[in-house]
Amino acid sequence: MPVTPSAPARILIVRLSALGDLVFCTSLLDGLRRAFPDAHIAWLAQSGFAGVLRDDPRLDELITISKDTLKSPAALWRLRRELRARRFDWVIDAQGLAKSRVLAWLAGGTRRVGFRSKEPLAFLLHEQFDKGGDPADIASEYRYLAERLTGAPAAAPRLPVAAAAAARVAEAMAARRLASGFLALCPFTTRPQKHWPDEHWPALARRLVTTGLGPCVVFGGPADREHAQRLVAQMPAGSLNLAGQTALPDLAAWLSQARAVVGVDTGLTHIGIAVHTPTIALFGSTCPYTQGAESPLRVIYDGLPCAPCKRRPTCNGAFTCMRQLTPERVADAVTDLLGRVR
Ligand code: SF4
Repeated sequence: MPVTPSAPARILIVRLSALGDLVFCTSLLDGLRRAFPDAHIAWLAQSGFAGVLRDDPRLDELITISKDTLKSPAALWRLRRELRARRFDWVIDAQGLAKSRVLAWLAGGTRRVGFRSKEPLAFLLHEQFDKGGDPADIASEYRYLAERLTGAPAAAPRLPVAAAAAARVAEAMAARRLASGFLALCPFTTRPQKHWPDEHWPALARRLVTTGLGPCVVFGGPADREHAQRLVAQMPAGSLNLAGQTALPDLAAWLSQARAVVGVDTGLTHIGIAVHTPTIALFGSTCPYTQGAESPLRVIYDGLPCAPCKRRPTCNGAFTCMRQLTPERVADAVTDLLGRVR
């Protein structure tokens, strides 16, 4: 049953990583901001991911820590002092891990809540909430948590585009002759089974180049630069490698300018949805969301009998779930979603 909360004056969200989860967790931020417009809302996140939230007007404060902070008792003690000085009323562990529970506990708070999970140290929280919601709905667990905490309906994840970021990206697009539009490709993620085969990306770009939707631009992190270059080298002339060249605070602005985003199960794809760019998401070994609220979204997922295997593939590296999503199918999804005829 929804509850009518007494308004907290100061709230801390603890969600350290990763990029896509930070994006999904903006549903919680949005719900809290709507329910408590005058509250001071802070977010504790790990540097390397936090930048995506830097210019979010719903946040009053972004507190960043490094991975090393978690390994150093002295650094944790300093962090405890700094967090407790902020006198948070609510501290929300939106990660559900032992480390996030420790950080929530270090922050104090008169109401310390978090996700119920198999992780230890649940006793550090005052209350736990199930990961509820409908898995078919994007970010549903964060929306559910927001609804439990505020008693009001929560929205899908959304990333606002800051004016300064939009101006930087407009200038960068003009310099790269992208001002008349482009298609964003997001091939990079963590586990091998979440990737689309390398040869499919250039094949997709060759099909899409005939649509008039603009050149294909590959996005990724600094570690993806060389891999992206290998893919772009096989794509039609005019395709571009921007992996490692887009700052985290500018990612929302970049992807908001794309005519469409095509990506695997990765943070950049989730950003495409959060800025309401038409997005085609390729899923195989992980549980797909199929509804992106008001965002134009097409999920391509075949639901093989072995799926979702998540971290335990049983196909000896065949990764059929992703391989059988052919470039033709994906190109058709792009043109269909955008109402274009190839
Ligand atoms: S086991 Fe099945 S779902 Fe998992 S990676 Fe292989 S083909 Fe995909």
